[in-house]
Amino acid sequence: MTTTIRDTVTAEVTDDVPDTATTLRALDPLSVAAGKHLDHLRVARVDWIRVTKVAEEAGEVVGALIKLQEGRAEFEDVRSELGDVFLAALAAADQLGLRPSDVVADRWKVVSTR
Ligand SMILES: [Mg+2]
Repeated sequence: MTTTIRDTVTAEVTDDVPDTATTLRALDPLSVAAGKHLDHLRVARVDWIRVTKVAEEAGEVVGALIKLQEGRAEFEDVRSELGDVFLAALAAADQLGLRPSDVVADRWKVVSTR
């Protein structure tokens, strides 16, 4: 049986994820870089435009999954589009002046208790 990344990571995860914000701090400069990249691409620095890109990329990952099921795409296409979702979310955080490490950590505190 093949060992997946989920198997590997699950073995490392405990129920208590200590100091999630610190663990995620490396995302903060990537968020700023993603925002600057959108500047480079001349995407307007307008909240709704940059936040809407998250939905645009989410649609693309769903599209890639549909194509994968139809045999018209590879799993790598899904992976790439999912990466775009993360990057768009990081750029949206930059646009809104938020630290993604804090946003994710704060939400994890709530969501993980459900
Ligand atoms: Mg995309």
